[in-house]
Amino acid sequence: MHEMSLCLSMIDLVSERAHAEGATRVLRVKLTIGALGNVEPQALAFCFESAAQGSALEDAQLDIEVLPGRAFCFDCGETVTIMQRGEECPNCQGMALRIDDGEQMQVTEMEIS
Ligand SMILES: [Zn+2]
Repeated sequence: MHEMSLCLSMIDLVSERAHAEGATRVLRVKLTIGALGNVEPQALAFCFESAAQGSALEDAQLDIEVLPGRAFCFDCGETVTIMQRGEECPNCQGMALRIDDGEQMQVTEMEIS
């Protein structure tokens, strides 16, 4: 499952950052994921539960924020926001969209102790 490998690399990253700051526990992590990244927030949260066992993130609270994607419309020349792939342009209902942003996954906040 690809959410599981995402979780594991996120846990590695956050543990490293926490250790670098001399912390042993991570209390809360906020993840921002793009709406177009094919990542299910619920699957991610589910994987996190088991992936975090035995790590510094074991009891951490996971907050997930989904950001809309950004695309450029060749029909009307506007940059628009869309929530999923294959959506039409909200301006002109054109289908010629180039996805510019919306696949990222980032740790945007963390609380450590
Ligand atoms: Zn358009």
